[in-house]
Amino acid sequence: MLNTWVVIPTCLPLVLRRCHTCASESFRANGKFRVNANHKLMDAWLLVLCTACGDTAKLTVLERMNVRSVRPALLDRLHRNDPGLAAELLQDPVVRRRNRIALDWDDAWRLDTGGSDHLDREVIDVSVRFAARIPVRPVRLIAEGCGLSRAEVERLIAEGKLVSAVRLGGKLSGAFTFTLKR
Ligand SMILES: [Zn+2]
Repeated sequence: MLNTWVVIPTCLPLVLRRCHTCASESFRANGKFRVNANHKLMDAWLLVLCTACGDTAKLTVLERMNVRSVRPALLDRLHRNDPGLAAELLQDPVVRRRNRIALDWDDAWRLDTGGSDHLDREVIDVSVRFAARIPVRPVRLIAEGCGLSRAEVERLIAEGKLVSAVRLGGKLSGAFTFTLKR
């Protein structure tokens, strides 16, 4: 029987970028946007606050866009300070590249294993899905989901008792499956 685990975001990730005021390296979005329209051209930014000094920085979302070419639904979400939009934009590689930022998801996700009933079985097949593109180490994920230490998980991989079509050693942010035989 295949079990499904889901990696679920619990809050917005930290935005890694140097603060020009205090040289801290991380910001947090509070879901607020700033929109500026000028002669039919529009700019929009996602506001992020320095975690050390609280200084505000702006991440470019729209730059000198003709107002008419901006989708009304997007405009509406910008004006409403839609928190879901902040999450979507931070996950957009184009937005990240344009603003030269990286994300730190360390304390911003949880694992839903749908209960621990399956963990007693001799063979466990698990399909892991991601509700957001959150880079996590499969070793950490499996340790948490199975109630094992990371060292135990590493040992199971080395002994061939924990197998997957993907490399379990690095980081992943997309769906994968694994089988654990004890
Ligand atoms: Zn600062």
